Amino acid sequence: MNILVTGGAGYVGSHVVEELLKTGKHEVVVLDNLQKGHRASVQGGIFVQGDLADMDLLHNLFKEYAIEAVVHMAADSLVGESVERPDKYFHNNITNGLNLLNAMVHNDARYIVFSSTAAVYGEPVETPITEDHPQVPTNPYGESKLFFEKIMARYDAAYGLRHISLRYFNAAGASPSGAIGEDHRPETHLIPIVLQVALGQREKITIFGTDYDTPDGTCVRDYVHVTDLATAHLLALDALEGKAASTAYNLGNGQGFSVREVIDMVEKVVGKSLPRAEGARRPGDPAVLVASSQRIMEELGWQPCYHDLETIVRTAWNWHKGHPQGFRS
Ligand code: UDP
Repeated sequence: MNILVTGGAGYVGSHVVEELLKTGKHEVVVLDNLQKGHRASVQGGIFVQGDLADMDLLHNLFKEYAIEAVVHMAADSLVGESVERPDKYFHNNITNGLNLLNAMVHNDARYIVFSSTAAVYGEPVETPITEDHPQVPTNPYGESKLFFEKIMARYDAAYGLRHISLRYFNAAGASPSGAIGEDHRPETHLIPIVLQVALGQREKITIFGTDYDTPDGTCVRDYVHVTDLATAHLLALDALEGKAASTAYNLGNGQGFSVREVIDMVEKVVGKSLPRAEGARRPGDPAVLVASSQRIMEELGWQPCYHDLETIVRTAWNWHKGHPQGFRS
């Protein structure tokens, strides 16, 4: 299949491209504006530097490479920033996303796998969160993703453009190949930040809030290995090619770990204790976010291979140790 991967030079995107290329059965075209992605993270296929705002470029890509399906991951994805800059999030995640959908319809591309998020649910009313949980996002990032899911449903009804939305919980870890991993600038995520402390690049890890209603007072999250996330995209593409109806699936491990437990695990993996401080809560953080991923397991046969936290942290550590300056190493 000829597949366009938007945002394919990003963290999850580069791992999806790696898995797509491994199958040997797809022509992969990566589109990324490299504002946050890294050219060096794209392991193969055709790379095009460009933006979804460029409608001419999109039409040309669909025609030149006879694109049949899209994996759409190009987006802004920081909760805090989205609260400060809703204009940026609605523009990049919705307006630019609409360009992509319109180019698909115009050029007869048949289906899309969309990178969605646990943030579409907002504050959980029950745990683990299933796909039927109420969707009340608490920030513009989650809203932009939820709106786009709704837009895709309308495009399906009107134009027959089928989609599968994959709602990621906390993507973590790095490819077991050792070739690619997480490199955000600035880094805001827990595991890479703790690993930067282990590498001596940061003085300490600050725990954001110790007074949550959780067993140890810190937030509980569901960490899912980025390669397991990636393989779910391949299953979704296969399902859509096999005429599956449009739907959405959660992607998590179904098991929560507190911030303290994650730091403990990093200490175990790196073999030393790390300086920690206790800080204020980070605005917008729910106490507990844990997924039920039963549906994708039952319907698409998704089976995470790297589900235990130690393996997740070990693969991340291998990457960070070998690439202390990320893709600039
Ligand atoms: N966290 C923390 N200190 C940090 C970064 C994150 O205590 O320096 C906490 C954060 O408040 C959340 C959890 O770690 O409860 C996971 O945060 P991350 O940013 O990795 O992912 P998110 O849950 O925001 O998607």
